[in-house]
Amino acid sequence: MPKREDQSKFHPEWRTDLIYFVISHLLIQVTGVLVQLPAALAFKNIGLEGVQSAVQSIHFIPQLFLALLVSDLFQYSGHYIFHKIPYLWRFHSVHHSTQHLDWLAGSRTHFVDLIAVRAISFIPIYICGFSYSVFATYIVIVSFQAVLAHSNTRINFGWFKYVFVTPQFHHWHHSDNPAAYDKNFAIHFPFIDMIFGTYYPMGKEWPESTGLGDVEFPKGFLRQFVQPFKKPDSNKIMKNPSER
Ligand SMILES: [Zn+2]
Ligand SMILES: [Zn+2]
Repeated sequence: MPKREDQSKFHPEWRTDLIYFVISHLLIQVTGVLVQLPAALAFKNIGLEGVQSAVQSIHFIPQLFLALLVSDLFQYSGHYIFHKIPYLWRFHSVHHSTQHLDWLAGSRTHFVDLIAVRAISFIPIYICGFSYSVFATYIVIVSFQAVLAHSNTRINFGWFKYVFVTPQFHHWHHSDNPAAYDKNFAIHFPFIDMIFGTYYPMGKEWPESTGLGDVEFPKGFLRQFVQPFKKPDSNKIMKNPSER
């Protein structure tokens, strides 16, 4: 059920995005699970035993929601900083460069952006002592929602869009319409953006187009990897979206 019927199943840069998918989506998620146990042991004696035992005494479902909420609050902060600090935007602009949003294109994230925001989102979960089963389920939900949020689907999810992040919500985050710059940062709960005043009032509308507007962005995994490390002068992609 595609939103954009004219968009091919294999968009022009699908090979680049497939590399991102394998690296960021599969490998990093697996790493998150593999380091959970050692990380939990490393953070065991940091004086938060009270918090950790309180968290572990919560039943599975509410504990899972708490994990999603805590990680999304941290993800929101990290994501916000990557938009607002010009040096960090260089890295995050890779994620925003795609003009053909679909399940695969959403994986396009620079390694620095990926590691930093994952660490910011995962570490509070390790520190707070969430159980292994909650963390493993959390990883599945994160993986699924990351794919779904970028998908080219016209499913609107009705009232559910006020509770969970939907494709429409995240497509607005990728909009090249200046009115939607620096909006909809959350990846699980839209009310976080409502609370912090960054919610885009989308109604039933979808963005006309996504990407970095008229900016010429380098194509290919390696060129995009190197791009943020280059000198920014005369290069429009280094500008923060709200300054363009
Ligand atoms: Zn962003
Ligand atoms: Zn995205």
